[in-house]
Parts: sequence; structure tokens; C-alpha cells
Amino acid sequence: MKFRFWGVRGSIPSPGPRTARYGGNTTCIEVRSSDGTLIILDGGTGLFPLAQHLLAQEPRPPVHANIFITHSHWDHIHGLPFFTPLFIKGSRVRLHGAYDPVTRSGIEHVMGVQLQNSYFPVSETQMGATIEYQTLDIGTSVEVGDTVVGNVLMNHPVTNLGYRISCNGRSLFFTGDHEPWHNPYPPGDSAFDAYEQHLHERQRAIDAAMEGVDALIVDCSYTREEYPAKAGWGHGTFDAAVEMALRVGARALYCTHHEPTRSDDELEAVFDALLARYRGRLGSLDVHLAFEGLEVSL
Ligand SMILES: [Zn+2]
Ligand SMILES: [Zn+2]
Repeated sequence: MKFRFWGVRGSIPSPGPRTARYGGNTTCIEVRSSDGTLIILDGGTGLFPLAQHLLAQEPRPPVHANIFITHSHWDHIHGLPFFTPLFIKGSRVRLHGAYDPVTRSGIEHVMGVQLQNSYFPVSETQMGATIEYQTLDIGTSVEVGDTVVGNVLMNHPVTNLGYRISCNGRSLFFTGDHEPWHNPYPPGDSAFDAYEQHLHERQRAIDAAMEGVDALIVDCSYTREEYPAKAGWGHGTFDAAVEMALRVGARALYCTHHEPTRSDDELEAVFDALLARYRGRLGSLDVHLAFEGLEVSL
């Protein structure tokens, strides 16, 4: 199995000279299983260059893609209408994701909303590909080709599924957006203990889903200094990601969902400071900054 980053930016596309080395496209990861099954994690703007890449092969093959959406925020879905294989007869695209309790709709909603006539000129019925939708049950794995894709509920303002993909004894886990837990009740409050227990159970489920993974790909939007001003926005820190990777025994950690205002130089400075802070404590854990085009074989 191998994977490649096509979009590593959080929140909003951020192209330009300040982000040219790591990339300005929003979240999208291509995963290829041992038998060539194509799984795509999230449909941010990185999905568009991935589509161009898929269609540049000669002779052009029909594209059969399984897209797993972590959650419905724009930066994880707004490449979907521009996934060019949707327009090509013979292509098959299956979209997987969570039920949305707010709109009470399945994963077809993220496509349907974007294809409304006010926002996009082409309707789904005009698209040539076979398009299928699979709304996932939380905590229930599905088989895709020679892989098994499991999911677990993360901590974000909307339902966000983290995905574990396993194939041939190798595995990766992608959080989508995730914020470390916070108990809103002060210690001593009558609700504090019950909420603390609830958080422990949620965290246990997440740790179990990540356990021993070969590659852990995590939302590292903020530094620990930036975080207090952004608490509750649903994003993690570099330090929280390293702690999580060490706790679950991950082999490698890939920091992604880079803050859109952070330049390449600033990103590297933040990362260097992180490595210095954890010097001597990482053991066998490899820590990487994700960039567009980074390809990893597991
Ligand atoms: Zn995001
Ligand atoms: Zn989000």
C-alpha cells in the first residue's frame, strides 16, 4: 500500500509564493492498495490535480475511485464537483461518509449541496460517471478491494470520521479534523466526573482505532501557543499529535492541515522547534511535515 498527499492545507486554499514548497491545496490524500484499488481521503482542492494526474495516464483508463469524506466542511469537499472523472462515461465514483444529524441526510448531501444550480452549472444527471453513495455506520468497517476501511468518531464541531485503512498487514490512519478533548466543567462541578468518564471512553475508542498504525496522519493546525485563542474550533496542535502518536505506538506521524496563513519558512520553524522540544523522547517514531507530492510506501 502507498499514499500520496495532494492537499495539505487547512480551512482555505492558500496558493502563492509563501506556500509554494508545501502547497496551498486543501485536504486530499490518494491511497493505492496492493492490488491497485484507489481510495481517496477527502475531496479538498487537492482532488483537482489528482484528477488531472489520473486522466494523464496513456491509454486513459476508466477511473474507479472510492472517496471517503471525513466531514462536510468546505476544505474537505469543495474539490468534489471538479473531480473530472465524474464527467467521463465508464468512470465509477463511490462517495463514503457519515450521516449528518443536522440536515438529517446521508453523504449524498455533500455533493447535492454543491451541485445546486446557484453554485455549480452542471447537475449530477448530466455527469457521465456512475456515482454511488455509501453512508457509513460509525464504528463499522467496510471492505474496499483488498482493503478494510474502519472509522471512528473524532472531536470536531460537526461529525468527523477518522479512517483506518488496512491492507496486507499494513495500515494508515487519517484523523481529518480533530481537537484534543476538553472538559468544559471545572473540577468539583457535579458534572465534571461524568463528562471526564465520557471523554476517556471516546479517547479509548480513538486510540484503539489508531493502535500500532504504520502511518498516522493528523490535523496539526496550531502551535501550542496559538491554541488557546482557537480552542473549540476543532483543530489540534503539533504537540498533541506527537503525544497521540507516541501513546498509540504509531510507526510514523505526518503533520498536515497546515494553517493557511503560515508560510513555508514559518512552518519549518514551527516544526524544527517541535523536534527540538521532543529530542530524546520520540524513540522509533518518525515525524514528518506533509507536503503536496509527498508519496509514502508502507
Ligand atoms: Zn479542515
Ligand atoms: Zn473541519
